[in-house]
Amino acid sequence: IWAKVLAALKGAIGTNNFSNWIEPLEFAQLAGGIATFHVPTNFIGNYVSQNFGDQIIYHMNKQGQDVQRLRFTVPSTTHTAAPTPKARPVAKATATEDISGAPLDARFTFDTFVVGKPNELAHAAARRVAEGGPVTFNPLFLYGGVGLGKTHLMHAIAHELKQRSPELNVLYLSAEQFMYRFITALRERKMMDFKQLFRSVDVLMVDDVQFIGGKDSTQEEFFHTFNALVDGQKQIIISADRAPGEIKDLEERIKSRLQCGLVVDLHPTDYELRLGILQSKVGVYAAQYPELVIAPGVLEFLAHRISTNVRVLEGALTRLFAFASLVGREITLELTQDCLSDVLKASDRKVTVEEIQRKVSEHYNIRLSDMIGPKRVRNYARPRQIAMYLAKHMTSRSLPEIGRRFGGRDHTTVMHGVRRIEELKATDSQMADDLELLRRALEE
Ligand code: ADP
Ligand code: MG
Repeated sequence: IWAKVLAALKGAIGTNNFSNWIEPLEFAQLAGGIATFHVPTNFIGNYVSQNFGDQIIYHMNKQGQDVQRLRFTVPSTTHTAAPTPKARPVAKATATEDISGAPLDARFTFDTFVVGKPNELAHAAARRVAEGGPVTFNPLFLYGGVGLGKTHLMHAIAHELKQRSPELNVLYLSAEQFMYRFITALRERKMMDFKQLFRSVDVLMVDDVQFIGGKDSTQEEFFHTFNALVDGQKQIIISADRAPGEIKDLEERIKSRLQCGLVVDLHPTDYELRLGILQSKVGVYAAQYPELVIAPGVLEFLAHRISTNVRVLEGALTRLFAFASLVGREITLELTQDCLSDVLKASDRKVTVEEIQRKVSEHYNIRLSDMIGPKRVRNYARPRQIAMYLAKHMTSRSLPEIGRRFGGRDHTTVMHGVRRIEELKATDSQMADDLELLRRALEE
């Protein structure tokens, strides 16, 4: 019966998910409506339960089994040592085998990456690393919000390195894949091969390392791999959705190791960059849909109205071209508004001055009443100025309107506050980081 369930699951969740998450499960027993599975680690158990639990139950029920709940247990070591009924064939792995990482997207090259102010530093650092030569900063740590080009830059580095030096062993993979390989190696008792494999690469790229936070044994192994590579003068490139210091449940020593190279962030896109990206993508579409005409002002409109996430921007453009080609009409502003009304509405969500005040007072641990109130001591005045600054930059309120919301202050007070923060932002990196953090939190 489990075999039938397996077959159904494979169809339902795809072979990738299936071999990553379902194959490691071993059906143990079904009693009292509870199906028990043995899993190699608790992590796999939790992941499967959260992501595929319902489907497993559904397919087991469909096979006539009364299953209400799933239970995942990690067998004790004595247990695993006993030969399991369907022992996996032990592959004879060698260090040179299976060095391939995740596939690289051929479109993610430096040529297709549009550079603007928000990403110029990250781009320059990536370029430098991609030029090869002596290892300059190790690791290169790229971080930034979703859809800002981290993966694109990493793939671009990999493409470039492979082109320049085909003999280099470049391994790109996501942190989840790293984790999965590590867990598989543990389960199949192939840790030596695992270690050798990872230590034999010349360039290691791990994408989205925030996923390693909290997974203790994976962290540990990652750390050792990391150290071994750095000691061997091998280049490491890491990406995450936040700065090393802010990754949850990551050991201090790993954080500090991650920080010891170059840490650069990709800032949220600005209007100029979005427009640049749209223009470059339109070039691609123009070749694909030669009959389509795009009215002036449409790209500018999109660059204004769509959020900072480039993936959303691309998605909108794809839809727009597909729609226009379907209805055979010129891409005008009206057509754009019709076709993308949902996307436009979603990114219309405006931050209010009140939200900013609340977030900032939480962040600095002061009361909202003190933020708005008359007290002028620094403890209150600084967060107040920060909130004013954010209100100025994130809302369309005028200075007098902002002043009114800060207990009826004058617009010159607001202006002074905004200026003060602008100065500090330029000279005090802690302040710049704080502002960025708050901005992101508010944009969510
Ligand atoms: P992240 O990994 O940071 O979440 P991605 O690298 O996957 O983001 O980027 C999301 C999409 O946006 C990709 O299709 C990528 O090609 C595109 N993109 C992001 N930044 C740029 C850029 N500066 N120029 C061109 N395309 C970009
Ligand atoms: Mg990514």
